[in-house]
Amino acid sequence: MAISVWEQSTYFAKKDLVIVGCGFVGLWTAYEAIQKNPKLNITILERGVIPSGASTRNAGFSCFGSVSELMYDVALMGEEAMLETVKMRYDGLQRIQKVFKDKDIDYNQWGGYELFEGQEKIAKNKKESKGKKERDDKGSKKEGYDISKLDDDIAYLNKILAPVLKTPKKNGKYLPIYTNASKEINKLGFQGIEALAYNKLEGQLNSAKLVLALQKAVQAKGVQILFSTEVKKFKNHAKGVTIETNLEAPIEAKQMLVCTNGFAKLLIPSLDVVPARGQVFVTEPIPNLKFKGCFHYDEGYYYFRNLGNRLLLGGARNADFKNEKTYSLDTSATIQKVLEQFMMQRILPKGSKKPKIELRWSGTMGMGKIKKPIIQEVQPNVYCAVRMSGMGVAIAPIVAQKATQLMKL
Ligand SMILES: Cc1cc2nc3c(=O)[nH]c(=O)nc-3n(C[C@H](O)[C@H](O)[C@H](O)COP(=O)(O)OP(=O)(O)OC[C@H]3O[C@@H](n4cnc5c(N)ncnc54)[C@H](O)[C@@H]3O)c2cc1C
Repeated sequence: MAISVWEQSTYFAKKDLVIVGCGFVGLWTAYEAIQKNPKLNITILERGVIPSGASTRNAGFSCFGSVSELMYDVALMGEEAMLETVKMRYDGLQRIQKVFKDKDIDYNQWGGYELFEGQEKIAKNKKESKGKKERDDKGSKKEGYDISKLDDDIAYLNKILAPVLKTPKKNGKYLPIYTNASKEINKLGFQGIEALAYNKLEGQLNSAKLVLALQKAVQAKGVQILFSTEVKKFKNHAKGVTIETNLEAPIEAKQMLVCTNGFAKLLIPSLDVVPARGQVFVTEPIPNLKFKGCFHYDEGYYYFRNLGNRLLLGGARNADFKNEKTYSLDTSATIQKVLEQFMMQRILPKGSKKPKIELRWSGTMGMGKIKKPIIQEVQPNVYCAVRMSGMGVAIAPIVAQKATQLMKL
């Protein structure tokens, strides 16, 4: 099918900016770019009939890092890099709340907790991993978090994070971000958990509602979104970029920004981005579900929250790293079984009836050696904003602002 002269002068007319990928990063970048320059002619190309990456398939945590995760990040990439990434996430969460009304995205700030097992479990892990060469995808040998350090780590994180994030103050002093909430374990009904850390600044939202709200906001400003349009290859030249897709004619742009996150390597092979599948399930309603909020466990590898009185549980990628490095959007029996065991052995009170699982799904994250996004010019006129790691809900608005500043808009 050849394109018409009308299509040539509209859908296929040369764009100021083409964004590849209609997830949070692509949409927020369109949002920020059009704020900066309302005259820009922007098109988003999305391979799926709906956005088909992680943005509508995640757990909807509005979070910026749990205690053990941030302590791990300090060890992995240093205090400064950890602070920089956490600040981007925290500022991103503020931006979401500034731009959208809570009710439009089902935002609830019910706080977040991190669950810890006791010393016996660490001793057991140490014994089991003795002599083994197996490492997790971050390169560490995982034995568990030592809860005797919890109060010191909480004090350290509160001290360094609050002034950088500029979190709420009382009587001129920053309120603590993290607190030891171990006394709440019994009330929440968990099994085999010996310590809890609480962060009242965490919230939860409906991530597809946020995507739809962003779509509506950018389309109202004239941004064109072409769904079912997969970028196959591109070529930069003196006047811009020629982008080839499955459509009938190539699309010309002055600049192109790749926001395909976990899929980034497929278009730009030189990038340090590895796909990491995240699997999730949601149960049927559970009568008297004892908790509300977001919950993290095992340095963020497991996460769960309430969805009304249903349980949404995801993660356990570290139970099968090798097979979870995949672009596949199926679920696997191995991970789903581990998640079900975790639900029955840790989350629900002892003796609970096993709830039916109503929905199972997966999404693709973008990981790398360190937990910092890649926002850079890849070739003249070609840019990327990818590798959101596990907290793209939060970090995307600020990644978008940085990408917008980097490009010539
Ligand atoms: C199971 C799971 C749970 C998660 N939970 C949370 C959470 O609770 N909180 C949180 O902050 N983060 C969470 N995340 C991470 C978060 O969802 C991501 O970091 C974020 O959505 C990334 O946004 P993005 O726009 O960079 O990428 P994506 O949303 O993946 O968007 C990339 C888009 O590019 C499209 N695309 C790819 N290739 C092409 C191509 N060649 N041509 C055209 N289009 C293309 C894809 O279809 C996709 O729509 C979770 C992720 C998963 C998988």
